[in-house]
Amino acid sequence: MTKKIFLSIMLVSFLAVTAVIFLLTGVSYRYSEESSSEHLRQSCTMIASAVEQSGGTYLDETDFGDLRVTWISSSGRVIFDSQHDPVKLDDHSDRQEVEEAMRSGDGESERYSDTLMTKTVNRARRLSDGSVIRVSNVQRSFAALLLKNLQPLAVVLTALWACSLTAAILISRHIVRPINDIDLDHPMTEKSYKELTPLLKKLSKQNGRVNRQMIELRQSREQFSLITESMSEGLVVADQKATILTSNSSAYALLGAEKNDSDHTVFSLCRTEQFRRCIQDAMGGRRAECLISTDGGERRVIASPANSHDTVNGIVVFILDVTEQQQLETMRREFTSNVSHELKTPLTTIYGISDMLANGMVKPEDVTALSGDIRHEADRLITLINDIVSLSKLDEEENAPRQDEEVDLYDLASDVISRLRMSADAKHVTAKLTGDHVTVCGSRTILDEVIYNLCDNAIKYNNEGGSFSVKISHIPMKAIVTVSDTGAGIPEAHLGRIFERFYRVDKSRSRKIKGTGLGLSIVKHGVSYHGGTVRVDSTVGKGTAFTVELPIEKRRT
Ligand code: ADP
Repeated sequence: MTKKIFLSIMLVSFLAVTAVIFLLTGVSYRYSEESSSEHLRQSCTMIASAVEQSGGTYLDETDFGDLRVTWISSSGRVIFDSQHDPVKLDDHSDRQEVEEAMRSGDGESERYSDTLMTKTVNRARRLSDGSVIRVSNVQRSFAALLLKNLQPLAVVLTALWACSLTAAILISRHIVRPINDIDLDHPMTEKSYKELTPLLKKLSKQNGRVNRQMIELRQSREQFSLITESMSEGLVVADQKATILTSNSSAYALLGAEKNDSDHTVFSLCRTEQFRRCIQDAMGGRRAECLISTDGGERRVIASPANSHDTVNGIVVFILDVTEQQQLETMRREFTSNVSHELKTPLTTIYGISDMLANGMVKPEDVTALSGDIRHEADRLITLINDIVSLSKLDEEENAPRQDEEVDLYDLASDVISRLRMSADAKHVTAKLTGDHVTVCGSRTILDEVIYNLCDNAIKYNNEGGSFSVKISHIPMKAIVTVSDTGAGIPEAHLGRIFERFYRVDKSRSRKIKGTGLGLSIVKHGVSYHGGTVRVDSTVGKGTAFTVELPIEKRRT
């Protein structure tokens, strides 16, 4: 814009200066032409009257300067010429001015020379004897005048152009500055040209619309990232070249990846072959899934193509943490095989003994002992089935609404101990109950099973003549049940596994002791059903202590 204004000013000033120069030259030319013509007329009249009085003598004695004076006889012959030899001059009667003077007394004419760029002005006056006096003057033409003044004109023109140039620069800057200074974010606050007001108003309106749209866009983007960031699943959206367009931090955390500044593709998230193939399948238009083991656990990757009109425009990748699911699956498989094994062992024994009895292969004196064995194995089966039922009930109840009942743990423990009195007496193990009446809110049946299993183990794994104690206490908001015994203890290496289903510390030794390996699993499940924790401390040869902590909650009505 500055350039345009500058060029326009320059052009206008150039034209104006040139026009002024032409005009001035023209006016001065015209003035000089008129005054020289007047001078010529006066000179002609004066010389004619002088010749009339003094004759040729006046002409011979007078210096006429630049003027050419010619005396022509009535026949047209040149009698006198101030600049040429009259003898050499031809007949002048045909000259326009001479002809006019001879006819009417006065004559005038102008003759131009293009080559010399001059104009000859002639004045003629007839004398009383019929002869004619002609006075001529050579004047410069307009072009010659211009050419003559070219040098001073060039100086003036250059000076004027220089002034115009400076003025043009300053003016164009001055004009453009208010426009340049407009704050496009707040156009209406600026004091600019009145002519720009409609444009600025429109700009301000558009700014408002763009700002609103930007705010909406930012809000929806923030909302989107808030939602995706709160997701525990990983989410990645990529274009058709696998360049990541959007992703959440869970995607990186789950795959153990870090943002890569040089590689922005999905492939940078995980370098395994399965992952690469899965992404490539999705980019090829097929939904693909794969399982990946990372340091953090098992991940399921689901990659889907985002199609429009049969073209893959991008892909959406979900990353799920399936560690727990995989562990549960493994546990379920192990549990099924353990259950089958545990059921098969007593059943095989029962089947073998009953087969022998049926075939009469048993001596009558052995029948009693073998029947006892069948009963023992049947007992094992019942205990096992009861434990499995308890566990599956707990599994179900974990997802069911909690039963709310106020349970006095001291009374409950006292009841359990009296029910176990016979087995404790059989092993000469003494029991002691100490502590306070602490009440928790929960399921009496499940809490009974928790304390029963712990006390049962404290008797089973105790030494002959040993003892165990149950202590009920509390700290703020927590009830504590401690069951400690004076038994053989559990080696440290096994402490982390005893709560697993079917885990028994010393299988050969445990075989002699009735058990299924499910008791502590029931304890763990029962405690976690109540939102509590269970912990074991054991010293080999000295004894074991299980500590259960349960939250004390007000009964929900
Ligand atoms: P089980 O039916 O074998 O008793 P549990 O799940 O109750 O199964 O216990 C798992 C294992 O933990 C037992 O086989 C036993 O070896 C060990 N154990 C549990 N309680 C005690 C305890 N009080 N003293 C010593 N060992 C114990």
